[in-house]
Amino acid sequence: MGRTLGPVCRLCRRESIKLMLKGARCETAKCPMERQDRNRPPGMFSWRRGRSSEFGIRLREKQKVKRYYGVLEKQFRLYFRQAERRRGNTGQTLLSLLERRLDNVIYKMHFAPSHRLARQIITHGHVKVNGRKCDIPSYSVRQGDKITLKAAEKTKKLIQANLEAEKNSPVQPWLQVDAQALEGVVVALPNRDDVQIPVEEQLIVEVCSR
Ligand code: SF4
Repeated sequence: MGRTLGPVCRLCRRESIKLMLKGARCETAKCPMERQDRNRPPGMFSWRRGRSSEFGIRLREKQKVKRYYGVLEKQFRLYFRQAERRRGNTGQTLLSLLERRLDNVIYKMHFAPSHRLARQIITHGHVKVNGRKCDIPSYSVRQGDKITLKAAEKTKKLIQANLEAEKNSPVQPWLQVDAQALEGVVVALPNRDDVQIPVEEQLIVEVCSR
């Protein structure tokens, strides 16, 4: 599946929220969202735009979630159809499916500073799931899955540096991490409270059901 290419800070500015797509840089004053002169939607005349329509509000909610998880439209629609087929609240199931992506799990385990880097670590073949190499970022983890990182020295340093930087932020309760051994376990499946960005999933369901 494809991925979003091009400047990513534009995506945060468009959605008016920090999507944390650039790792450590997102925490610094260089982040455009922290600068008064850049903290506005991209485009020359963005300040002229009026109020969003009902559809526009729903569309932005969907785009925000897609961009946060690094999923393109076609794959997002597949997730939505999968969520629709399952029992329970479609919006919450959709978010749970996105949370279970392997690249998101690597990011949430603090092995990578962003979803993008997590994706790179996976596609370069540094990740094993239950002892078997897995280079598919969209792989959906299951309860009990054991994630192991077998990286070359250079990548290992990057992973350890990120674990060190994040040592004061606890890992989410559905995950367990052994920073020394560079491995982790999915102890439970994620629920609605584990989604870290503010999102109104009902709006996404409304726009995707049209
Ligand atoms: Fe760029 Fe990160 Fe700031 Fe988003 S949060 S605007 S990706 S630096």
